[in-house]
Amino acid sequence: MREKLVAGNWKMNGGLAENVVLLDAVIAGVAGLRGVQSTVCVPFPYLYQAQHALRNTSIAWGAESVSQYTHGAYTGEVSAAMLLDFGCRYVIVGHSERRALFGEEDGVVADKFSAAQAAGLIPILCVGETLAERDAGITEAVVSSQLDAVVARGGAECLATAVVAYEPVWAIGTGKTATPAQAQAVHAFIRGKIAAMNAAVANDLQILYGGSVKAANANELFSMADIDGGLIGGASLDAAEFTAICVAAQS
Ligand code: PEP
Repeated sequence: MREKLVAGNWKMNGGLAENVVLLDAVIAGVAGLRGVQSTVCVPFPYLYQAQHALRNTSIAWGAESVSQYTHGAYTGEVSAAMLLDFGCRYVIVGHSERRALFGEEDGVVADKFSAAQAAGLIPILCVGETLAERDAGITEAVVSSQLDAVVARGGAECLATAVVAYEPVWAIGTGKTATPAQAQAVHAFIRGKIAAMNAAVANDLQILYGGSVKAANANELFSMADIDGGLIGGASLDAAEFTAICVAAQS
């Protein structure tokens, strides 16, 4: 049985004072929930704060990106080892905003995935198609090549210590959610593709759905056979919403 995972992605939001309020409310909200894992991925400057707020709770924390390099003259970059110094468990790689706004192509995403794993972090690998790609009927081809970039490096086995998040780009931050059936179809495709390479890895792989998940639609999405939780952007900034999504993910 795969346990569900609810991962918050704060993006470039937050501030020391407001984070205290949000983290305290999330800690209180998820206390006592069973059969669901939760994590928040926060901007780099707030990792220390997240570590100190969450270290004695069931909530893990992580970062939103990581350098593909281990150290050296890479001004502005943050290495996987640095994230480990702050107790991170997870790091998001290949988020569509990084791909579209910062030019991170599949090769870079694969390098970041490998760097994260080499250091002992669990990468949350984001894949997903744009609206134009969906309309052109190439959703599976797009998702497939995004997965192939990573699998080509480490084989399907590298997904044994990773999480995949299917995030249709047209649903991120738009209020438009993929229907449960649309999401399930892509999740099943992803699991099937991995299963063709390694059935055990595919069976255990947590595949999250991301794209305007909120308390009102989480139950329906999480009831689908291959949806193992959510990557939550906007709603992760609202403690009541985020907590309600975690409640919906309980087994
Ligand atoms: C995201 O940024 O990964 C995301 C899914 O955002 P939102 O929930 O706001 O659509």
